[in-house]
This record gives sequence, C-alpha cells and structure tokens, in this order.
Amino acid sequence: MKYRDFGTWIRQQFPYRVQKISIDAGFTCPNRDGSISSGGCTFCNNQTFSPAFCNKRKSITQQLKDGKAFFAHKYPDMKYLAYFQSFTNTYANIEQLKRMYEEALAVDDVVGIVIGTRPDCISTPLLDYLEILNRHTFVIVEYGIESANNRTLQRINRGHTFECSREAIQKTHERGLLTGGHIILGLPGEDAQESLRQAPLISALPLDILKIHQLQVIKGTALAHEYAKQPFHLYTVDEYIDLIIRYVSLLRDDLILERFVSQSPADLLIAPKWGLKNYEFTNLLNQRMKNIPD
Ligand code: SF4
Repeated sequence: MKYRDFGTWIRQQFPYRVQKISIDAGFTCPNRDGSISSGGCTFCNNQTFSPAFCNKRKSITQQLKDGKAFFAHKYPDMKYLAYFQSFTNTYANIEQLKRMYEEALAVDDVVGIVIGTRPDCISTPLLDYLEILNRHTFVIVEYGIESANNRTLQRINRGHTFECSREAIQKTHERGLLTGGHIILGLPGEDAQESLRQAPLISALPLDILKIHQLQVIKGTALAHEYAKQPFHLYTVDEYIDLIIRYVSLLRDDLILERFVSQSPADLLIAPKWGLKNYEFTNLLNQRMKNIPD
C-alpha cells in the first residue's frame, strides 16, 4: 500500500532541500479572544496563549535567522519555508498581514511561506493578495478542519462548521493556491467507524495536502478536564495504525499526506503516552503498509 508523501513531493518542488521554520508572529485567535468564543477549541492549550502585545517575542526576521542557524550546521545549502504556525495566521488586517508575510520572505534563503489558519478567517482581499504572491513565490495555505461532523465541531467548541471549511478550501483552491488541511482522529464522540465515514468527505475537498493527527489530551485544556471527569477512549498505537491504514485507503491517491501523528511535549501530554517520536511512528506505519497490496 502506497501513499503520496509530503517529503518526496516537496523535494520535487525545489532544486534544493527545503525545511520549514515555525514562527510565532504574535497572532491571537478569534476562538480565544472573544470574537467567536473565549474558551478556544477544547483540545487547545490555553497556557501557550501569548497575546499580540507580548513584546518579549522575537521578530519574524529573528525567528527565521535563529531557525536557519539551527539547520545550517547540518545542511549549509538548505533553503527555508517560513511556517506561520501559531494560532490564526490570517487574523489581522490585510496591511499587517502583508507586512508580516513580506518580512518573512525578505529573509535570505526563505523561498516560500506556509500559512496556518482557521477556515472562517480568510477574506477575498487576502485571497487576491495571496494569488498574486503565489505567482512569484511558493505559498501553502493550511486550514484546521479537525472534523467533517458538525456535532463534533460544536462539542469541541471549534466555532465553525464543516461547510465553512469546505467553502474556504474551495475558494483557496480556485485561486491556484496550494491548499492544506488538518484533521484529528479520535475526537470525543468519534469512533473509528465515524472517522472512516468522514474520510471520503475529506477526500472530496479540493485539498492538495492533508495532515492527520491522533487526539492528544494536553494539560490545561478543557479536554483535560473532560477526560479527568470521565475518561474516554484514546487510541493505542496499534489501533491507530489500523485506523490510519483504513482511512488512507479511502483517500484520493493524489492527496499528499504530510503527517499522521503529532508529538506534544512530554511534560504537557496527559494521554495517550505512546513514547514514540513522529518518525518512529511513521516507520511503524510504513512497515505495516509495505505488507498490504496496493
Ligand atoms: S486550536 Fe487554533 S483555532 Fe482553536 S483555540 Fe487553538 S489557536 Fe484557536
């Protein structure tokens, strides 16, 4: 069994190696600041919330320079993608956004940007701008979809529907922008059967790239309280590998799969404690997939 993996695909997009450098550009999130809700998604760790006015944060340029210094030791010829990862990286006015993205792109050896955001935080003027930017640089817009089930989205206090995700992804794709999505398997109320029901719905979205994560219960989250009061089932490694194999078999062959797990810092993670690094999990998964005919 094969899938189109992000690592191979990204190597084909550039004549050199590229590495993402994560940036915290000081954005907030409408699901945190009271615009939609002040609680945030139940799985999201409020303790990591750093308000935009927090001036202890390093500049975008400095964060990229530090990131480059870290990787350049090993690979002097490496180029970089600035990954606007923390919180909602389109949640500001367009002039501010342009300044931030262009600051990142002005750093030497930064050859593109990846913008992580919510599907309810994308506007026509921003898409107009990104469409033009995309003509001369590499751009990926990545949306948190999390689930295709509106009941689940409500239960995790996501603050948007699946239809909202579909519309944002459609509009982004229509602009010729590379479009990514992020989903979580094992959210409260969703068993393996429900995830498999959703797989074709996710696959039917005009996404280029998909990231899949297992649900993790993180300290300081609403989900952690829910879990303490009434523990719910979290996948074991074997159960999750079984599910991923079945899930991937229901996805389009041309969908690029970027990751299958996330690995939260051990001191923040309540459960499940798999004790595996991302690459160790992926190796286990690939090993299992090898034995499954295409
Ligand atoms: S997961 Fe994203 S959208 Fe949800 S509260 Fe956290 S930062 Fe906001």
